[in-house]
Amino acid sequence: MSRVFNFSAGPAALPEPVLRRAAAEMLDWHGSGMSVMEMSHRGKEFMSIAAKAEADLRELLAVPANYEVLFMQGGAIAENAIVPMNMLRGHAGADYVDTGEWSQRSLKEAQKYGRVNVAASGAAGGYTSIPPRDTWRLDPEAGYVHICSNETIGGVQYHFVPDTGAVPLVADVSSEILSRPMDVSKFGLLYGGAQKNIGPAGLTIVIVREDLLGGALPCTPSAFDYAVVAEHGSMFNTPPTYAIYIAGLVFEWLKERGGLPAMAEHNARKAAVLYDFLDQTSFYESRVARDCRSLMNVPFHLKNPALDAAFLKGAEARGLVQLKGHRLVGGMRASIYNAMPLEGVQALVAFMQDFEREHG
Ligand SMILES: *Cc1c(COP(=O)(O)O)cnc(C)c1O
Repeated sequence: MSRVFNFSAGPAALPEPVLRRAAAEMLDWHGSGMSVMEMSHRGKEFMSIAAKAEADLRELLAVPANYEVLFMQGGAIAENAIVPMNMLRGHAGADYVDTGEWSQRSLKEAQKYGRVNVAASGAAGGYTSIPPRDTWRLDPEAGYVHICSNETIGGVQYHFVPDTGAVPLVADVSSEILSRPMDVSKFGLLYGGAQKNIGPAGLTIVIVREDLLGGALPCTPSAFDYAVVAEHGSMFNTPPTYAIYIAGLVFEWLKERGGLPAMAEHNARKAAVLYDFLDQTSFYESRVARDCRSLMNVPFHLKNPALDAAFLKGAEARGLVQLKGHRLVGGMRASIYNAMPLEGVQALVAFMQDFEREHG
């Protein structure tokens, strides 16, 4: 069996030790005689799996005690509606910072539920940077301020936590959660789909400050009302049990590797290998402003796009897959989440050098 280096933006590569352990436990989890997939979500076996996953996630992110950790479904795109339903809390509208495709998707959906003020936008610069905080025009009456902390498609990432005063900060962290330590206390709510940097598709993580619960719009489906989900310990309806189990194995793997400070170092090293290379070649280019570059998703272009197809074919022959850029940006994109080893990025750069030598 040979495994490739998978640069997919999501669903993305998982740590190999996690997959091996899941394989070993597939038919008989810890002597239960059952696969985790076959367990009642209310049985003691699965309850212990979910409790451990939540405790480990809390430990990894140092989640303060006054925050709820919710395991939900529907992905970040469902949260685009669920967030305004829950977070407007009687306010007429919310502020959104537009930094690219994912924040646009969020604000368009929110318009169904309230007035959206686009407080700042990176559109004029082609979404290659994050608008500096001092340019934002925030509404003091807003229910919350929404950002996308890492734009998975455009490859821009916040390297600061914006101060929004008394108005709660809400962040879509789908493609960077657990890649670095984060001061949860600076946010009212964090949400993200698991399939980028945590585990399988189907699980959505929501971390929300307790005092923000309980004011959902009356039309909010019960299964999407954070207060209801919290009250039932994320078991108001059947949760995505197997995805929670795999996420739990990933949390254990992260703890064994030194937690988020170690991951931040690992991810910074990997990203530096790729960006340093991009900065010294004229055959490829990165179009993202240096101080906003994503450490997770690295879009880059060949100066001659006529070579794109040959590049992708050559990469695949070397076991480097899923490098085609998103259609909105074109070119290439290397997603280098936690599970991507340094060797994968080194192999990519070695291939890029060889390809440049051959075609440059
Ligand atoms: C992938 C992604 C989404 C979409 O997530 P779904 O799970 O498909 O709903 C939203 N926001 C960001 C930042 C993403 O990376």
